[in-house]
Amino acid sequence: MSKCPMCQKEIDRLLHIQWGRNTRLYIRVGEGIAIEDLDFTGNSVGIFKCPACKRVLFENEEEAEAFLKGEKIEVQV
Ligand SMILES: [Zn+2]
Repeated sequence: MSKCPMCQKEIDRLLHIQWGRNTRLYIRVGEGIAIEDLDFTGNSVGIFKCPACKRVLFENEEEAEAFLKGEKIEVQV
């Protein structure tokens, strides 16, 4: 499982927040990523936060998915 570089918790999901309001979850499932809409409309523009410490980790979908898949753990934010 991927580890949050900020709080060091192991996380299998990221909170995706659009325009500070709409949210959904990116969840690692097997080898892929499942997306669970909580209150989300529109496209994938937004920020990705750790669900534990709520700090912003990524600003694009590719990095968020790579992180969840364990392909990349560098955080540039
Ligand atoms: Zn964290």
